[in-house]
Amino acid sequence: MSEVHDAIAAIRNRRPQSVVVFTGAGVSAESGIPTFRGSGGLWRNFRAEDLATPAAFARDPKLVWEWYEWRRGLIREAQPNAAHRAIARLPDPLVVTQNVDGLHERAGSRDIVELHGNIFRARCARERKTIQAREPFDEIPPRCTCGALLRPDIVWFGETLPAGAMERAGAAIAAADLLLVIGTSGVVYPAAGLVALARGLSIEINPEASSISTACHFAVTATAADATPPIVDAIMEGR
Ligand code: NAD
Repeated sequence: MSEVHDAIAAIRNRRPQSVVVFTGAGVSAESGIPTFRGSGGLWRNFRAEDLATPAAFARDPKLVWEWYEWRRGLIREAQPNAAHRAIARLPDPLVVTQNVDGLHERAGSRDIVELHGNIFRARCARERKTIQAREPFDEIPPRCTCGALLRPDIVWFGETLPAGAMERAGAAIAAADLLLVIGTSGVVYPAAGLVALARGLSIEINPEASSISTACHFAVTATAADATPPIVDAIMEGR
């Protein structure tokens, strides 16, 4: 973990005041929630890319909901880990997440842009009305009171992100003194393109090289729960 020491030295040198934290599935891996890519990314031999799409839902809504009910069950039982908790210790960061698990909020982060939605919301496929839906559904696929199918209120592959989310995230990243990029493979666009907007110091935390490692000043090859707390400590020293 010599990179973590180099990254900490750079933070001490620059004393960043405005911080944006950009996270992906890897930040929640140590909470027991499988990532899409890497080991453990498969469910009943299906790839996420073949289930999280409008076409898959149109073809077989029951299969797609069974997968979501499995993931919702794992996430319901999961707890924020040391990385989520460290991020929540930062006084005023913007957290931009691709995750749908709500663990940043549960850890105490307050200013969060959820680029890809939230797994505990569902949306009427006809009326687009959303409902909070934390508990398991009685019937799969679940239906809206109007009789139409409900779908997870999640941005599927090929769909448009929530209005204003990319704009807010991009502006904050461009203006930040420090961008922390934690646990993302950097292959899901447009979210992955946000990293290129950074003008300040940028530090990635990921045990494996990702598509955006070389775009960051430092690539710390460690897990989120190991490397995030000491990096947050270094940021707090400069406050
Ligand atoms: P991804 O599955 O494509 O990549 C995960 C990345 O995390 C990999 O680069 C991997 O090396 C890294 N990683 C694995 N363990 C780690 C750890 N302990 N610490 C730090 N990094 C670790 O995930 P992605 O880039 O976020 O993109 C996939 C899409 O998957 C996103 O849009 C997201 O909505 C969705 N997703 C969300 C969740 C969740 O909400 N928890 C889980 C799986 C997938």
